[in-house]
Amino acid sequence: MNQTQAYIQENKERFLDELLELLRIPSVSADPKYKSSVADTAKLVASYLKKAGVNKVEVCETAGHPIVYGEFIKDKSLPTVLVYGHYDVQPADPLELWETPPFEPVIKPTKRHPKGAIFARGACDDKGQLFMHVKAFEAMLKSKNVPCNIKFMIEGEEEVGSVNLEKFCKKEKNRLACDMVLISDTSILDNKVPSITTGLRGLTYLEVEVTGPNRDLHSGVYGGAVANPINILSKMIAELHNKRGEIAIPGFYDDVDKVSKSERKAMNQAPYNEKSYMRDLGVKVLHGEKGYTTLERTSIRPTLDVNGIWGGYTGDGAKTVLPSKAFAKISMRLVPHQDPEKVFKRFKKHFESIAPDSVSVKVTPHHGGDAAVTPTDSAEYRAAEWAMTQTFEKAPIPVRSGGSIPIVALFGNRTQGKIRLAGIWSG
Ligand SMILES: [Zn+2]
Repeated sequence: MNQTQAYIQENKERFLDELLELLRIPSVSADPKYKSSVADTAKLVASYLKKAGVNKVEVCETAGHPIVYGEFIKDKSLPTVLVYGHYDVQPADPLELWETPPFEPVIKPTKRHPKGAIFARGACDDKGQLFMHVKAFEAMLKSKNVPCNIKFMIEGEEEVGSVNLEKFCKKEKNRLACDMVLISDTSILDNKVPSITTGLRGLTYLEVEVTGPNRDLHSGVYGGAVANPINILSKMIAELHNKRGEIAIPGFYDDVDKVSKSERKAMNQAPYNEKSYMRDLGVKVLHGEKGYTTLERTSIRPTLDVNGIWGGYTGDGAKTVLPSKAFAKISMRLVPHQDPEKVFKRFKKHFESIAPDSVSVKVTPHHGGDAAVTPTDSAEYRAAEWAMTQTFEKAPIPVRSGGSIPIVALFGNRTQGKIRLAGIWSG
């Protein structure tokens, strides 16, 4: 281990230069304008893997952005770890909120990081983390400390729903076979309170379209006589929760995983200050399902949120339109055992049933993903716990995160591997 640490110290400057080079490429997967930059980023990641000593490296083309795959097989009888990460980033808008340009990384000291932190799009989601794994491998290999086989799968479409990764995983099932999957694409509670993410919520995302009259009408002439689809849609959305803050779709909670009292107790021991949470968000009270704490509402309970709503006239000034259509994008965060497709069907059936005869309703699915949870009593978890304790000088707390990484559940289903999520801070 000392030799590995020494190698890191000797090469620290080079590592930093390489990371900054990676952060400079605008690999925005959602915007076709950046397609060649995304491809360049894949090539750079592949070159870093080769340089690190991964002997089989391939940039695999997909119908969208490429997947970088690499493997280092030391001995087939040894266990295999598959490292997953993504080199694509979210769009950097709104640009005016950036103090420095998003693709020109700078190192600045902050209150939380007096020694300096890197500011750039992707620095801590997920270029920083994937880079950390590549360099950890390099340092271990060069100091002859690699104890197992390692595979890397670094994709370029995580921020757009990993659309082509599922196909890739199915096709490459044998190549991707592993004993565990290591993912650093979540956050830790705090630098002083390290944590490992052991669960992620799933997702059902959809869009609704409510149609009233066959064309936009004048509200002065027709208002009061014809149903306004925006009014109707708002009412229908309001009916999706009951007074207890529960989701009012029949059968929605049928498959929800019941978390034991002892696990709920452990979960609520994570440091959390409700007052500063509210202050940070600028809200006077919190809102959610009755009978659960904020930590539980954002991790072990499912949710339903409208992510966007539009229709009619939204430009400057006034236009007295009675619109023909109203739309909304709605997402539901799911917990273990809830099936995204089943939830979609339940939503659709319910939404259609509460629509009055004055409108017609169309419900269209977007992407979805299963929730995932991993045990904390396994050898793999204990190894991650040990590693983080060495670094942070404190044992990490297991936490469940409210977000979704659709591919996590897929790994569990498609490879023989077990899922281990290591939420390691980097930035
Ligand atoms: Zn990410």
